[in-house]
Amino acid sequence: MTNVEPAGITRQRYPVRARVLTVVRTEDLSPDMRRIVLGGDQLEDTLPRTRMGVADHIKLVVPDETTGEVTLPEVGERGIVRPEGVELAIRDYTIRTFDPIARELTLDFVLHDHGPAGRWALRAAPGDAIGVMGPRGTSTYPSGYDRYVVGADETGLPAIERWIEEAPYDAALDVFVLVEDATRERATVDRAGLRLHWLHRSAGSDLAAALIAALPEDDGHTFVWAAGEATGMRPLQTHVREKGFDRRSFDIRGYWKLGEAGHEEGHGPGER
Ligand SMILES: Cc1cc2nc3c(=O)[nH]c(=O)nc-3n(C[C@H](O)[C@H](O)[C@H](O)COP(=O)(O)OP(=O)(O)OC[C@H]3O[C@@H](n4cnc5c(N)ncnc54)[C@H](O)[C@@H]3O)c2cc1C
Repeated sequence: MTNVEPAGITRQRYPVRARVLTVVRTEDLSPDMRRIVLGGDQLEDTLPRTRMGVADHIKLVVPDETTGEVTLPEVGERGIVRPEGVELAIRDYTIRTFDPIARELTLDFVLHDHGPAGRWALRAAPGDAIGVMGPRGTSTYPSGYDRYVVGADETGLPAIERWIEEAPYDAALDVFVLVEDATRERATVDRAGLRLHWLHRSAGSDLAAALIAALPEDDGHTFVWAAGEATGMRPLQTHVREKGFDRRSFDIRGYWKLGEAGHEEGHGPGER
């Protein structure tokens, strides 16, 4: 076991850029997830991508569902200025990969018809336009821990795949992914130290409970990251606080909230 001083997340901010991109191609990853690759003249080759910035995300501005028009908000000194009288659907999506040579941005969408972003992904076809803003910042997770315990539902699966690819190779990596059932599991890269656990909603599995069971008492050597439905994440947030985990050693997020459109919860500086 290495004796490291607990390290925290470092945050870097960028000026926000807004662009209209188009769908280059789509690929179904499972019955309820679709990979959508975006490109176009407005996509710069310098989109930031940092190792261990696994949860970096952009904001999608979904086209008007009736007219198909994309209205980009203005970016002022204090961030995004929403135009008056226009209800814009602006939603966070994780940067799964960015290829600066092909200038292609890859996002993985949960397919559902409850909200505009999910519906857009259900219908997306090559040539379709969408607004993309940011990323506004990078949160780089610390590399010095002996063990990483990370978990998510489908909305955090793009970040989970980046954890598997990017977490330090000499660390143990325990990964928990909540999906509907075994037909939704998919292959990931294999790597040293990886223990991958698929949890099935249809069998009553609970993401927060599985993560709590996997956590030690805070030993200063374990980093915890999790994302999923906001209410479902709460017991885990309470657990790490009650167990006195060092604030620098965890990051637990509600990525969406059942019954709430455009859910946004507290993000640290540099993240939004
Ligand atoms: C930092 C961050 C990164 C994210 N990265 C991704 C990503 O890479 N891929 C991804 O798919 N999502 C991702 N999400 C989650 C995504 O932003 C939300 O699911 C968002 O609410 C989808 O917008 P919508 O317009 O489809 O639905 P909304 O209009 O926001 O919500 C309408 C209704 O849909 C329901 N709903 C929302 N999301 C889901 C869902 N996933 N499954 C079932 N019902 C839902 C809500 O409960 C609500 O009742 C991320 C969120 C955050 C904060």
